[in-house]
Amino acid sequence: MAVVKPRGFSFVKRVYPARMLGLALACLIITTVLLPLHTSPLLWVVLVYNCFIWPHLAYFIASSSANPIRFERLHLLGDAAMGGFWVVAMGFNPLGSSIITMMLWMNIVGAGGVTLFVQGFASTLVGLSFGLLAFGMRWYPATNDTLVYASIPMLMLYPIFIGSITYNLSMQLHKQKELLKHLSRTDGLTGILNRGYWETRAKEEIVRARRNHSSLSLIMIDIDHFKRINDTYGHSVGDHVLTQLAQYLQWNLRETELLGRYGGEEFAIILPDADNNKAWQMGERLREFIEQAVFQDPADPHHASLRCTISVGVAAFNDGDGDFSSWVRAADAALYQAKGMGRNRCISFVSNNPQHILESS
Ligand code: GH3
Ligand code: MG
Ligand code: MG
Repeated sequence: MAVVKPRGFSFVKRVYPARMLGLALACLIITTVLLPLHTSPLLWVVLVYNCFIWPHLAYFIASSSANPIRFERLHLLGDAAMGGFWVVAMGFNPLGSSIITMMLWMNIVGAGGVTLFVQGFASTLVGLSFGLLAFGMRWYPATNDTLVYASIPMLMLYPIFIGSITYNLSMQLHKQKELLKHLSRTDGLTGILNRGYWETRAKEEIVRARRNHSSLSLIMIDIDHFKRINDTYGHSVGDHVLTQLAQYLQWNLRETELLGRYGGEEFAIILPDADNNKAWQMGERLREFIEQAVFQDPADPHHASLRCTISVGVAAFNDGDGDFSSWVRAADAALYQAKGMGRNRCISFVSNNPQHILESS
């Protein structure tokens, strides 16, 4: 069975390798400074614990807690306090101290911004005070070649590592943004454009048609007696018919022709560069296609007897007195007439007066 990790686990997973690498590289620097200082064995034990055991312990504690983010923030503040402690232990060595505090503060700012940094800064001061109590004031400003070389891995590797984490995060964010955009534009059941986005695209097409003085048409489709399909076969088969119908419509359209789910079992199509006549022909073709199409019951795929018909209303965009809503109303009026005339028909709306100058035979 899959184990569900608590919210914030990915944050802990991100900090874990950063802490492991940062503290291992810090150990190299601290060791180089402490070696000539006749350090007590206890301090070496603390150093090994802090640099090589603590990262794993911190990961274990945070990842097994109910609130990983809270624990990980506390751990980062603990890291900052230990940083202050090591600064005193290293006798305020300028190179060692600044590199180690830079690494710790970089982690803190990356994890919690300025707010956590302020707390981290205060934690470093607490660690410093604790170090002063433990060692008294030590001063070891010497920077020799060994220390410079010991600092190079931290200076070169750590920023690259943090940079790659930042890059991965931004890529993840980008993917999530794209997914969110896709979800906000598509209909969850059929996968075609949802009504909101379809309307936005339709209005863009109006602007384009006005600019280019080109024709533009709209097809409205409503499934005939869809309630019967739901009542006879059940709602989930009804859902399947909607999905398959959307697919059948899409097969018959070009990329520039925009299909959207307008309502429950209503679909709408924008046809750029199509006048009334061309749009009616397309509507009629779709009607015939659906009339011939077979819809499969997913629970009984070998029994292919499910069929349905559609009624279609067509209206060209009339720039003279038209706006988006009157255009939709015109197509709706034609669709209403198609229903009134017995369904399974394609009717075109002409000159503000729904008359079936073009109608299915
Ligand atoms: P007609 O359009 O030919 O007049 O008859 P109809 O039975 O299709 O009429 P109506 O528009 O009143 O009914 C539409 C039905 O579509 C009602 C509703 O339960 C069903 N419906 C709407 N959305 C969905 C959906 O997402 N899934 C399923 N399965 N049914 C839906
Ligand atoms: Mg309807
Ligand atoms: Mg219907």
